Amino acid sequence: MIAPGVTISIAPGATIGIIGGGQLGRMLAMAAARLGYRCHVFHPEASGPATEVAAEWTHAPYDDRAALARFAEAVNVITYEFENVPVEPLEALGAGAPPVRPSPGSLRVAQDRLAEKAFVAGQGGTPARHWAVGSAGELRAALGEAGGPCVLKTRWGGYDGHGQVRLSPGDNPAAAWAAIGGRPAVLEAFVAFEAEFSVILARGADGAVATWAAPHNVHRGGILHRSEVPAGGLIEAQAAEATALAGRVAAALDHVGVLTLEFFACAGGPVFNEMAPRVHNSGHWTIEGAVTSQFENHVRAICGLPLGSTALRGAGARMENLLGDEAGRWPELLADGQAHLHLYGKREGRPGRKMGHVTWVG
Ligand code: AMP
Repeated sequence: MIAPGVTISIAPGATIGIIGGGQLGRMLAMAAARLGYRCHVFHPEASGPATEVAAEWTHAPYDDRAALARFAEAVNVITYEFENVPVEPLEALGAGAPPVRPSPGSLRVAQDRLAEKAFVAGQGGTPARHWAVGSAGELRAALGEAGGPCVLKTRWGGYDGHGQVRLSPGDNPAAAWAAIGGRPAVLEAFVAFEAEFSVILARGADGAVATWAAPHNVHRGGILHRSEVPAGGLIEAQAAEATALAGRVAAALDHVGVLTLEFFACAGGPVFNEMAPRVHNSGHWTIEGAVTSQFENHVRAICGLPLGSTALRGAGARMENLLGDEAGRWPELLADGQAHLHLYGKREGRPGRKMGHVTWVG
C-alpha cells in the first residue's frame, strides 16, 4: 500500500534502462526484478553479467547515438552502473527522452579526478594535495613541489588501480608519464592513512537521503579486498563528518540515486579520495547486511519511490571480493552455512578480475 502523498513517477512494471553490463548492473537488475521492474541493459560487449539477468539488452558501443536513441525509446528511466560512459550522447538524448538518473551532470563531475576533487573541496571536503599534469615536464615540476612519494593517476578512465603509477621525487617522470599513456593526469601526494572507508548514500528524486553505516575498506594492489561494518576506531569517529560532506555533495549535484565517496581516515581528519555516481563494491554487504540494499535503494530513488531503511540487519557484516581464481572457493563457501555467496557468471577468471563476492552477517 502506497503512503498518501507519495508521488510514484515510475511504477513497478516499467522498464529500467541500465547502461553497462557488469556485475553492478547484474545486481541492480536483480533488485529491480524483485520490485517488479523489467531491465534493458545497454552493453558494448557480446555478453556480460547483467545481460544474463535482464529482460532485454542492446549490444552497441556507448557512443552509438542511434542505438542509444532506440534504447531510450524502449525504457522509462535510464541509469548507469559504470561511470566511464561518454556524457555527450546522454545529454543529447533530448527533451522527449526518459530521465537519466543520476543526471549526466553527476557523471561529468565524477568521471574527472580533477573536477571531483574541486567539487568536493567546494563543499568543504579535503582532497589529498594534488597537481594537474599535462606533460612529462609538468609532472617533473609537480614531483619537485610534492617533495615526497606520490601517485600519478589519469584524469579520466581509470579504475581499480588501472591508469595509476606510484613514484617518488627521484624517479624518472618520463617513464611514469609513458606508463599512463601520456594522458591528462593528476599527481597526488601519497596519503599516510590509518584506514580507508566509504560513505554510500541514496538520494531520492524528492531530496530525501538515506545513508548506510560507513564500511572499513581494505585494498590489495589498488583493488578492494574487503569491506566491513561497523568500521570501528578512527573511521567511526570520522564517519559523521564524511557523511555530512557526502550529503552536501549529493544535494549540490542534485544527485538522484546512489552516490559513493571514498575517504582516507587520517589522524588530522578524513581525506577525500574519489567518488562514484553509482552503486559501489564497498556497498555489496548491504544486500544481506542492511534492511534495504544499495541496489534496491538505487532503483527506488531513480523510480521516484520512497527509500527503504538502511539500518543493519545484524550486529555487522563483512564482504570479501572473489578475484580471479578465488571464485574456485565456491564449494568451501557453500559449505559455510553463514556465507552468502554471489558469483557473477563470468567465464574467464583473469588475475584481479572481480568474479564474485561473499558476505557474512553477524
Ligand atoms: P583509487 O583508484 O584512486 O581509489 O586508488 C585505489 C587505491 O590505491 C586506494 O583505495 C588506496 O588504497 C590507494 N591510493 C590511491 N591514491 C592514494 C593516495 N594518494 N595515497 C595513498 N594511497 C592511495
